Amino acid sequence: MDHFIYKDGSLFAEDVPVAEIAAQVGTPFYLYSTATLVRHFRLFDEALSWGPHLVCYAMKAASNQAILRTLAQEGAGMDVVSGGEYARAIAAGVPGERIVFSGVGKTHEEIKAALTGGIRQFNVESEPEMRVISEVATSLGVVAPITVRVNPDVDAKTHAKIATGKSENKFGIPIARAREVYAEAAALPGLKVVGIDVHIGSQLTQLEPFQQAYQKVADLTEALRADGHEITRLDLGGGLGIPYARSNEAPPLPTDYGAMVKDTLGHLGCEIEIEPGRLIAGNSGIMVSKVIYVKNGEGRDFLILDGAMNDLIRPAMYEAHHEIIPVQEAEPGVELTPYDIVGPVCETGDTFAKGRLMPPLAAGDLVAFRSAGAYGAVMASEYNTRPLIPEVLVKDDQFSVIRPRPTFDEMINRDNVPEWL
Ligand SMILES: *Cc1c(COP(=O)(O)O)cnc(C)c1O
Repeated sequence: MDHFIYKDGSLFAEDVPVAEIAAQVGTPFYLYSTATLVRHFRLFDEALSWGPHLVCYAMKAASNQAILRTLAQEGAGMDVVSGGEYARAIAAGVPGERIVFSGVGKTHEEIKAALTGGIRQFNVESEPEMRVISEVATSLGVVAPITVRVNPDVDAKTHAKIATGKSENKFGIPIARAREVYAEAAALPGLKVVGIDVHIGSQLTQLEPFQQAYQKVADLTEALRADGHEITRLDLGGGLGIPYARSNEAPPLPTDYGAMVKDTLGHLGCEIEIEPGRLIAGNSGIMVSKVIYVKNGEGRDFLILDGAMNDLIRPAMYEAHHEIIPVQEAEPGVELTPYDIVGPVCETGDTFAKGRLMPPLAAGDLVAFRSAGAYGAVMASEYNTRPLIPEVLVKDDQFSVIRPRPTFDEMINRDNVPEWL
């Protein structure tokens, strides 16, 4: 459920007409709903309320300071995967003890920054990384709390580019070698083992792969405890999917997920951490774009939008489907026609949808891409020297530009021309 709905034939974000924001901000832009963000966070929080837990929002999905602050005020922790994201979490007022640091290639500098600023735990992805964390912690005279990310070798049944839990993926250490790696962790100075971490992929639409992975984590918890390790936290990663196409079978709800976690891991008495990104931000955001031209091609009609693949890359990168709806609702019973919906970028890959059935649209009409809140703005680029599009946040009847569109001069002036030119 989200808060982008038609009222009297016009699309609203909470209590604000989307067309009114478009008139003030210009198109294209991203638009987020506070109520939806908060609702999704609370769903997870409640789903795990049977025991001690922390929902760490995976901010790589959408990392604007206003979004982070909204969630931080709800009590969210953060999952960060770079020094930049760590700095963003701190800047948004998230205390270090609520930040977990994931990612396969944490550098010496990133580890140092996190240990200095405060960190809940590092999710260690390899033995060389574990040794570097030990060295940095020892040199700073502090102890680094760690979990080891295990790769459970399960098939997440999702798009290959976002599956992370098979043995051929670059993530984590093979679960079969976990006991050996934990033994080394216990022997290294400056480290404190606090738990186990797993994250098997993104946009999962079934509970079974999670359950398979978590069952392996349950078994490993017992084995590691028998080896003398104190396992008090289980970080279960993110990955729960969202319905991108309305017709699709609905992915499991956070409540079902929480109940499955309780069944599989509840008896171990551990604090549960989860790292949802997409399910919190995805349906909390839309991308609003304007039709520039309707072009009648041979056997197909093109809707050419002012938004493009550089603004929303998911269709080009993952063959992702986004619902695209007119901001002015179609009259009931109007005949739908198939359009190829494209952006102006000079690549054939700049195609959002082919043969998509839409009500008749004309130049100047606004459309909204639903479910664009996660992996939308954060993956945007300035390809074709198209400015990064603005981000806008709505709360009830108010809205605010939370990242302005840069001017061409601002973009150009980031370049330096050497003095010899
Ligand atoms: C990307 C990622 C997440 C979030 O995944 P979603 O599918 O957005 O929930 C969580 N944890 C880690 C380690 C990740 O890399």
